[in-house]
This record gives sequence, C-alpha cells and structure tokens, in this order.
Amino acid sequence: MAWDFETDPEFQEQLDWINDFVREEIEPLDFIITSPYDLNDPVRNDIIRPLQKQVQERELWACHLGPDLGGPGYGQVKLALMNEILGRARCASTVFGTQAPDTGNSEILAHFGTSEQKEQFLEPLLRNEIVSCYSMTEPQGGADPKVFATTATQDGDEWVINGEKWFSSNARYSTFLIVMVITDPDNPPYQQQSMFLVPTDTPGVNIMRNVGLGYESEADDHGSHAYIRYENVRVPKENLLGPRGGGFIVAQTRLGGGRIHHAMRTSGRVQRIFDMMCERAISRTTQGELLSKKQMVQEMIADSWLEMEMFRLLVLRTAWRIDRYQDYKKVRKDISGVKAAMPGVYRNIATRALQIHGSLGVSWEMPFTKEVMESFHMGLADGPTEVHKVQVARRVLDDYVPCDDLFPSMHLPKQREAALAKYADVLERHLETL
Ligand SMILES: Cc1cc2nc3c(=O)[nH]c(=O)nc-3n(C[C@H](O)[C@H](O)[C@H](O)COP(=O)(O)OP(=O)(O)OC[C@H]3O[C@@H](n4cnc5c(N)ncnc54)[C@H](O)[C@@H]3O)c2cc1C
Repeated sequence: MAWDFETDPEFQEQLDWINDFVREEIEPLDFIITSPYDLNDPVRNDIIRPLQKQVQERELWACHLGPDLGGPGYGQVKLALMNEILGRARCASTVFGTQAPDTGNSEILAHFGTSEQKEQFLEPLLRNEIVSCYSMTEPQGGADPKVFATTATQDGDEWVINGEKWFSSNARYSTFLIVMVITDPDNPPYQQQSMFLVPTDTPGVNIMRNVGLGYESEADDHGSHAYIRYENVRVPKENLLGPRGGGFIVAQTRLGGGRIHHAMRTSGRVQRIFDMMCERAISRTTQGELLSKKQMVQEMIADSWLEMEMFRLLVLRTAWRIDRYQDYKKVRKDISGVKAAMPGVYRNIATRALQIHGSLGVSWEMPFTKEVMESFHMGLADGPTEVHKVQVARRVLDDYVPCDDLFPSMHLPKQREAALAKYADVLERHLETL
C-alpha cells in the first residue's frame, strides 16, 4: 500500500528538534532583529551566526540543496515538513540557510552558473556570507514580463545595462543582483531577455528608494523592496547567467522551487494563526459563555481547520510529485494550484483570527493586520493569483477532449440508451417480471 501519511521516526526526531529550537531560540528574534538579511547588523550576526552553526552541526543546513552543494538532499516532502515549522518565525529560514530569494538564486546559479560564477557568487551565498537580490519586476508591470524595457547592449567585452526595476527585495542588503534584461529585441518575445549577475556596488546601480509594506512605518526606513535605476551599468560578458536569450527559462527554473517553498512556510504560518484563534475562542467569554460555544465562532474554527488541512495536503502532495518526477514542468499545474490557493487560505484564517480577537485583533498588539497584509504578499510575489489560476485552468483543460455532439457525452438520455443497449438481453429475459 503506497499511500502513507506518517513521518518516519528518524526524521520525526529531527522535526521535533527543529520545533523546539524554533520555539525557544528563533521565535524571540522577531522582536530583536530588524532584518535577518542585514549582514552589517552586529546584533544580528552575534545571535544568528552561533544558531546557524548549531543547525550545520545537526546537518540541517540548506536542506533545499543536494550533497554536492552542501545540503543533505532531503527532497521536497521532507523540506515541506521542515519549512512549515520554519514558517512560524521570520528569522528561521536564515538560521537554516533556506531564505528566499537566496534559495532560488542559488538554485539557478547551481544550475546555470559557470565554475567562476559559482566560486564568486554561489559559494559565499550558500555560507550566508553574502545575500542576494532578484531584480526582474519593472515599474510598468510585473505580471507580464513582455512589457519589460530594461536593456543590455554589448560594448566590447562588457554589457551595458539601462532601465528601471521595481520591488527588488533586499537589494539594499545584497552583494549582487540577478537582473533580467532585454539583450535580443529582434528575437521572439520569450527569447529576448537574458539574466545577468550584477555586483550591487557597480557604478550606476542606483537605489532610488526602498519601499516598505503597508504595515511598516516609512519613518523607520526599514523598507526592503528597492526601486532601482540601472544607469550605464557595466558588467563583464562573463556575468551572463545561463544562455543568451534564455532569461525566461532561467526564471522558470527559479520560480518553481520558490513558489512551493513559500507555500510550505505559509502552511506553518497559518497553523500558528489558527492556534491563536483557538486559544482565544476557549479563553474569552461573552454573554456568560465562552466564544467557543457560539455557533458562528465554531463555524469559523471549522472552516479554518478544513481550509488549513486541505491546503497542507495539497502542498505535501505537490512536494511529493516534485520528488517523484524530478521535473518542474510536469508539476506546473500543481505548483500553480498551491500558489493560487495560498493567499486565500492565509487571508481567510488571518481575518477570522483577527475578528475573534475583537478590538485587540485589529490593534498593533496582535500580529493579525500584518498577517492579512502578508497574505496579499503571497498573492503577488512570484506572480499574481489570477495568472496562476489561468495556468491551472489551461493545464486541467488540456486533459479533456471536446464532445462534437450537440448534447454532452454525459447527457442522461444518451447514457440511458447506452445502458439499455448493453443489458438488452438480460432485460429481455426478465421482461415479464419487470
Ligand atoms: C512583497 C513582495 C516582494 C516582491 N519581491 C520581488 C523581487 O524580489 N523581485 C522582483 O522582481 N519582483 C518582486 N515582487 C514583484 C512581484 O513579482 C509583482 O508584484 C507581481 O509579478 C505582479 O506585478 P505588479 O505588481 O506589477 O502587478 P501588475 O502586473 O500591475 O498586476 C496587477 C494586478 O492585475 C491583475 N492581473 C495581472 N495579470 C492578470 C491576468 N493575466 N489575468 C487576470 N488578472 C491579472 C492581478 O490582480 C494583479 O495583482 C515582489 C512583490 C511583493 C508584493
């Protein structure tokens, strides 16, 4: 029997350790560390470096990678079970060496990078000695990469990049950016763009402003999504990452893993919010009875549990299919499905938790307004929900054939006629008794 919902005891031990470690050592850091990506923050380094060492000693470092790159090569199912624990705390991915966007960036460097690129960019990235940024979205549009206008033109042994990028997360902390630009405007649309590795301190990389999310304060200047103008940025021709004109292929390789990892962490995040909702429901009274006795509150708990469990199973099955087929193309429908389901489940549960906490729920003394906003983040980063739904629908419909008759193939009169024909002899024999 191949279906199995149990974790093997040896790995369960690791998960139990991760669970305690995240709760005891990492969850408190969300109150101490401004950004786990800021390698210039001495407090961050003093606390996070020793924790990373413990993770490495336990052989749990960079579990998204295979042994050739210093990870244990666990595969996606084990990673999903781990990531749902790590999703509970903002700094946890960094402590375990699985933080976005460095994970996706390291995957494409491992896949497409030359040995020099791997030495210069990948190796220090995997050791978290540096952090990276993925710079693709442009101010005039992110969901449709065909409207991108940033270009690179060749000048001798160099490429010269000009244009603007928007919402390039962590650019301010990064040592290098992976930038998608038009190199071959005369090619068909999906073969016009290429990826470049651009050291962030290259002259002409101008961060115009660092944009924050709605729940962050402009005055704190912690915005981490950069609006960047690339002005005559020169990089050597060796900094082309992957094939010229192959930017879309590189982007797809990167995003497949990134999307499912976001979903795994969201599964854990949602579980944490759900726990808060349940605790409040059985603790707070109104009109002489607990909130948990109110049927509409019970409905919120039941709906949340169902959505959370369905989502978790979809994430785990998708992870299993990635391991099974080792080919992201074969699981694009599943990954898009998970990506499309994620913001809704997250938002519904965060909203219900907020509501059950009443005025406390909307206040800054509970995390729910931030969580609701984060659910929108999950519905935008790596492509909007609508685009993923379109992918799901297209791929689902690929498996169907049209019925060329006026009435559908499952039209009841047709089926009845076929059934009567199939059993005509039996019916004939029993004609008298019927
Ligand atoms: C927190 C966060 C971090 C991010 N980090 C990065 C990063 O590091 N690097 C990077 O390059 N980008 C990053 N992005 C940008 C992200 O990839 C884009 O926001 C996303 O691709 C959508 O692009 P857009 O914001 O320009 O929206 P638009 O392209 O303007 O789309 C706006 C809305 O239009 C609708 N829409 C769009 N297309 C369709 C369609 N085909 N069918 C139906 N409706 C549609 C959707 O509702 C969509 O939300 C990040 C975004 C967020 C929110």
